[in-house]
Amino acid sequence: MPELLANLNPEQHAAVTLPNEPALILAGAGSGKTRVLITRIAWLIQHGLASPATVLAVTFTNKAAREMMGRLSALLPIDTRGMWIGTFHGLCNRMLRAHHRDAGLPATFQILDTADQLSAIKRLMKGLNVDDEKYPPKNLQYFINNAKEQGLRPQHVDATDSFNLKFVELYQAYEQQCQREGVVDFPELLLRCYELLAHNPPLRAHYQARFKHILVDEFQDTNKLQYAWLKLLAGESNAIFAVGDDDQSIYAFRGANVGNMRDFEHEFKVRHLIKLEQNYRSHGHILDAANQLIANNSRRLGKNLRTDAGHGEPVRVYEAATDSQEAGWIVEEIKALISTGLARGEVAVLYRSNAQSRTIEHTLVNAGIAYRVYGGLRFFERQEVKHALAYLRLIDNPNDDTAFARVVNFPARGIGARSLEQLADSARLYNCSMAAAIPYVTGKAGSSLGSFANLIAKMRAETQQMSLPETVEYVVRASGLAEFYQGEREGQDRLENLQELVNAATAFLSEEGYGLDTPARSIPLRPGATSAPEIAALPDDAASVVLDPAGIAGPAQNPDTMTPLAGFLSHASLEAGDNQAQAGQDAVQLMTVHAAKGLEFTAVFITGLEEGLFPHENSALEQDGLEEERRLMYVAITRAKERLYLSFAQSRLLHGQTRYNIRSRFFDELPQETLKWLTPKVEAGARWGGRSDNAGWGRDWFARPDRQAGGYAGGAAVEQAPLPAFANTQRAAETGFKIGQAVFHTKFGEGTVTALEGSGADARAQVKFKRHGEKWLALAVAKLQAVE
Ligand code: ATP
Ligand code: MG
Repeated sequence: MPELLANLNPEQHAAVTLPNEPALILAGAGSGKTRVLITRIAWLIQHGLASPATVLAVTFTNKAAREMMGRLSALLPIDTRGMWIGTFHGLCNRMLRAHHRDAGLPATFQILDTADQLSAIKRLMKGLNVDDEKYPPKNLQYFINNAKEQGLRPQHVDATDSFNLKFVELYQAYEQQCQREGVVDFPELLLRCYELLAHNPPLRAHYQARFKHILVDEFQDTNKLQYAWLKLLAGESNAIFAVGDDDQSIYAFRGANVGNMRDFEHEFKVRHLIKLEQNYRSHGHILDAANQLIANNSRRLGKNLRTDAGHGEPVRVYEAATDSQEAGWIVEEIKALISTGLARGEVAVLYRSNAQSRTIEHTLVNAGIAYRVYGGLRFFERQEVKHALAYLRLIDNPNDDTAFARVVNFPARGIGARSLEQLADSARLYNCSMAAAIPYVTGKAGSSLGSFANLIAKMRAETQQMSLPETVEYVVRASGLAEFYQGEREGQDRLENLQELVNAATAFLSEEGYGLDTPARSIPLRPGATSAPEIAALPDDAASVVLDPAGIAGPAQNPDTMTPLAGFLSHASLEAGDNQAQAGQDAVQLMTVHAAKGLEFTAVFITGLEEGLFPHENSALEQDGLEEERRLMYVAITRAKERLYLSFAQSRLLHGQTRYNIRSRFFDELPQETLKWLTPKVEAGARWGGRSDNAGWGRDWFARPDRQAGGYAGGAAVEQAPLPAFANTQRAAETGFKIGQAVFHTKFGEGTVTALEGSGADARAQVKFKRHGEKWLALAVAKLQAVE
């Protein structure tokens, strides 16, 4: 309909309405690429050229994916929740869940985030007695992830020296460990999914037939593996609609490859290359600054941006004596902005390194200004939250050794390091998980471990029919975590976070469209879905959708492939730094420049503009390093709509050391007439005697934290033994209960037995409770009393 297209300029209009053929929209920041992509999906659906089920759209962050769904449902009355819109990781996770058997994974496989991966690697190295000074675990992590992102399994890695040979050997051992434990790291999600499609022609054909429309945002940052995955999915038709900006390629250090844009043009024989040059986001001075800065880069595909908005405010520059003074100034400016009526959420403070946020946070707290940090210590990464998640993971998959090691002695149960070593030895000897090795440990250690195993088994049984929030709440209590933090001096915050985890579970259910009572561990059917959850045997026409009377496709037959618990655990691992707990509250946004990609704010602060910090000192060591830093700066500048603030400090306390810095070279690359210095501009050399004297320009000044961000690591395709499940017999057991009997449960109250199954320790009863509806209870642990 015309209103969808009404506000587009002619190039955008052309892009939205292109035929279903390979297309590349190459355009600068704020030119409406994302808007074009979303409008195109809406337009295709509205015109009956696509149904929601035939669309697959990839974005770079969870935040962006959510925004895309939100914007799409604002344009069209459709339920976007079942649609395949997400990040590469999110979509691969979904596909692997649906076809876990074909992918050689247990149904309950868990995702290791970056920190979990590192601890798994450390555990592996310890078990194999590998010298971690000679072979630093972080380097191994990088090696593994890098290999996977190149699509390389251990046997494919070309190792030339003994050092690399060792890494390959460890990579292999790591894969075996992951497979045994049923865990998958971030790059494994992609590689495994790629292999699934590559090695399974019927499945590939199915998805190729299904996803007739593949749209990719931020295409410049796809890596080799992601590109190959897209290519497989696109199949013969090649009809990928890609939008991107070479000037915003900022993930080269993670293997992203701008060259993909050129390859894409050739390999897909792109017939439609559209450039958008009108910028709708930023005022003139801001855009001039961005254009002039990026002109210093040599390797560009070439394009420029113009705006019809006036010059607007100048770019304000502030030089502080110290980092705390810098933070003080930022907070004062933010206060002034808020007092003019600007929402806090329209203000972003950007930094190059996560560690910089601490001082700014501290100052914001003192000023009583609500803020939210994206990245850094994320909600799902907090210690207590991770502990609770580990228990939840063990309920789902007792073989998950990373989760096991995390909580086996937390809260303390008298299981010491020696017992654990003994256990790890047995696990290695019998090639099984730590949980499975418990019976082999004797003595006191054996009995402590045995009671831990019983605790987990009890939790599994008790939560069998509980909803997700009930399960989380139950686990927080039954694990002893609640009690532990109650007794701790600073436990209150942690208890609140655990409570917040229950809320996050509730929010997850409603966001994902699950009923609030859906049992956490069974695969539900969404309303309207008619087929069983297994997609493995999908009929060929499974992609067809039911059109509603208005001619708009309703939710596709899109059976869910994850239990709410598995979905929630994936969400917790994949959620890149979004603190759901504070969602909805109007708060100043703090994040790294990397995390700000694709977003826009009325006012933006770019902080820490110092040589060595931004551009980051590591960039000097890498080919194209400085150009990448400049692209990063370009991304930062172009987030701003109306106000842009740049700041730097002469001295900065970072990682426990005071560093003396000179201002970033980027200042000299900006058009001076757009800058307004709030402090007198001093020539860099005049005060600090030039860069070579600068103490901050040392190689080990600080590790590049974002390099380790965005997790990684492996697993081989070996079928895992199924987890012990309740026997699916309909036989009534010698339980002392009978169907129709009135019973009482301490938590759920009065009810009537409606079914019985299993026997002995596995005996279960289904009880219809007066107030809580039907639940399955494990009789061994449920303390169900007969009333008659
Ligand atoms: P980035 O490269 O930073 O991801 P982008 O090219 O994806 O930017 P969008 O985020 O799609 O740009 O658009 C930038 C802003 O301009 C948004 O607020 C969008 O709504 C607005 N915009 C885009 N096109 C138009 C238009 N034709 N008329 C008015 N506003 C527009
Ligand atoms: Mg965009």
